[in-house]
Amino acid sequence: MQAIIYKSTGSWYTVRTASGEQFQARLMGVFKKDGDITSTNPLAVGDEVTISPEDGNEGTAVINAIADRKNYIVRSSPQGRHKKHIIAANLDQAVLVCTVKEPRTSQGFIDRFLVTAAAYHIPAVLVFNKKDLYKAKDMEKFEHWQAVYEDIGYRVLLTSAETGDGMEELKEILKDKTSLISGHSGVGKSSILNQIVPGLQQKTKNVSGWSGKGLHTTTFAEMFDIPGGGRLIDTPGLREFGLVEIEKAELSHYFLEMQPYLENCQFNNCQHLDEPGCAVKEAVEEGEIDMERYLSYVAIWHTIEENNY
Ligand code: GDP
Ligand code: ZN
Repeated sequence: MQAIIYKSTGSWYTVRTASGEQFQARLMGVFKKDGDITSTNPLAVGDEVTISPEDGNEGTAVINAIADRKNYIVRSSPQGRHKKHIIAANLDQAVLVCTVKEPRTSQGFIDRFLVTAAAYHIPAVLVFNKKDLYKAKDMEKFEHWQAVYEDIGYRVLLTSAETGDGMEELKEILKDKTSLISGHSGVGKSSILNQIVPGLQQKTKNVSGWSGKGLHTTTFAEMFDIPGGGRLIDTPGLREFGLVEIEKAELSHYFLEMQPYLENCQFNNCQHLDEPGCAVKEAVEEGEIDMERYLSYVAIWHTIEENNY
């Protein structure tokens, strides 16, 4: 029987079949993992698995096999800086909920998110929420960021979970896709989730009630079906993915607007910092690449350790 993992809490997985049947499933015996992943969790939300319902134990099943992953997103494992923890697999897109104010999402945070998504070849969407709070100055800021990110090729939305503004457009983007939704605490991610998946608040409350305080300190991704088609993966408590698998030398490839310039740098190992004849810096000076994006690049470059993995 084919099923998809909706939730993982240690050794038990909540899985659902295409017909909507749900099982608590676990892994038995030796298991074949992707050869190139050394992660602390063999299975993650979004993984497609083959299960066998257990005889005489209704609602439980054994996981026999895992399908190859289309993609996956990782963070460094709490069990060790050099171990990886798979957050979710088989994503169609990653949505970042951000805000211009209350709280203000920093551009550095947005750019780190976009770099991570690009590194995993996952299309990213930026949703600026709390539109109802934006005054003229804030709208100017939004429009500036919208222009910068749309020029690069990203979808940028303006929403208000409070008034419902922009929600239809967001629903349209999420329809029939598996989307990871992420954002700093306070930006309105839960409010948006609750509009897209009615009754969700109750579900999450029930879950916290059942497993107690632990849930607030541990991050468990969970997937929800969107009425009418599609799935949303929420990652409560996950502040940032961390650029676990990215090396300094490849970072510029994940600033998508830098790509056309990379081969014109004088040195083919140019890091686009202080090197002479750097086509990226030239493009920044000529206003073809946004200065703040470039500064994000430099800041992120300095946070990446050599031989990351
Ligand atoms: P989360 O931490 O990202 O899940 O954010 P919540 O959904 O819990 O929202 C944080 C606070 O912002 C709550 O008080 C919400 O009522 C409020 N909020 C969420 N969306 C909006 C919005 O679009 N406009 C306004 N004015 N407040 C919002
Ligand atoms: Zn360069």
